[in-house]
Amino acid sequence: MDMVSTDKQLIADAWTSRELYANLEALCDFGSRFAGSPSEAQARDFIREKFHQYGLAHINLDPFGYLGWWRGTCSLQIVAPTPRAFDAISLVYSPSTPAGGLRAQIVDVGMGTEKEYAAQRAHIAGKIVLCSSANPEEGRAPHRREKYGWAVDAGAVGFIYARHLPGGLPETGSLRAGRLGEIPAIAISFESGFALKRLIQKGETIATLEAQNESRPTTAYHVVGEVKGATDETIIVGAHYDGHDISQGANDDATGVCLVLELARLFAPFKGQLRRTIRFIAFACEELGVLGSTMYAQKYRDEMSRIAFMLNLDSGVGDGAKGFTFSGLDDVETFLKNVARETRYALRLREKIETASDHFPFFMEGVPAVMMLAKPGDRALGRGFSHTAMDTLDKVNERDLHECAMVAARVVLRVAQSETLPHHRAPDEIRDLLIAQGLEEGLRAQGKWKFE
Ligand SMILES: [Zn+2]
Repeated sequence: MDMVSTDKQLIADAWTSRELYANLEALCDFGSRFAGSPSEAQARDFIREKFHQYGLAHINLDPFGYLGWWRGTCSLQIVAPTPRAFDAISLVYSPSTPAGGLRAQIVDVGMGTEKEYAAQRAHIAGKIVLCSSANPEEGRAPHRREKYGWAVDAGAVGFIYARHLPGGLPETGSLRAGRLGEIPAIAISFESGFALKRLIQKGETIATLEAQNESRPTTAYHVVGEVKGATDETIIVGAHYDGHDISQGANDDATGVCLVLELARLFAPFKGQLRRTIRFIAFACEELGVLGSTMYAQKYRDEMSRIAFMLNLDSGVGDGAKGFTFSGLDDVETFLKNVARETRYALRLREKIETASDHFPFFMEGVPAVMMLAKPGDRALGRGFSHTAMDTLDKVNERDLHECAMVAARVVLRVAQSETLPHHRAPDEIRDLLIAQGLEEGLRAQGKWKFE
């Protein structure tokens, strides 16, 4: 296969594609695609239909059982020093409070770093923790699930998660992976959090927190299809099609799914011509603690030695140069730098191991795994509108989306064709990488540390 002419074909097709944005619109128009919602089923059927239309092989819905969760009512009432109500929503997998709510004093743990929790440790038991979604500028940024885990460990009875960016938006997200959290947890806006902090600074602040949610076992499905290569050696290109129930999930992660669809469309005509097989997966239930891909990697653990590479597309559309996190894998970095040189496209590369998306379970199995990354667009404040009601289609820049498709296509072509690829890692190498990046404590707090 001639790389130059194939590149030209892929780039021209991606740049002029009418399918790419139309698929993004369709996914957003279904609704949130939250696990267990009717829009999730609509999106699943749509993706499967598109895989058929584009001519993929081995198309299937791959089922798995999980604990479903459905949002009910939620309220936060300050009872002392002065009565006041704040708008609040439950975080995903929050258990219900007793009817009438739970009443306790609120303690402010700031950003909820390990250090801040340690400083307050003696004062948290029996109280409701107030924790910001902000993270320190320097050093590691603990995930929401870690901050929650530390509150639970310290004996808190409730958890209030305040967004650190203005706009009146509570920020949702899961508390645990595929199971109910131990204590009720709610989200409030930056403005409510600010007001609450002022109250706490003045003196003892008591609140009644009420949350009523539902949960029961149910089934979700990954949507899978392949472009067969000359060998069984396989590359996975994936994105999660579920979003959060309060949002369209346009950036997170309808953009990723429409890029998976686009790559499927671009590569389907090359069936039988590529060295490796490309497996396209629209993952279910990522927003439930990276649950779906974790279960997939477990289910197909015996196959992992044949999975040569995993490319995850999650919220990776933004301005500036497009690029990838290479998870601290030196040969992946070298590979991508070679691609950058060969394609004369200055890929933006980042060393960090991102633990909260669908490439991570594959990384944990030793598979060279990367995630596309991009700077948030100028219409997104800070880390963007992900997980808020304002993660809507209007924030996605269509030109950036096309550029992501072109860049991803050229990388996928080289991953599919390269004679050699980055090597698989043994469990102790993965463990050492995680420790070197200071991720052990955080993964333990989430119940995701698999090493001893
Ligand atoms: Zn995502």
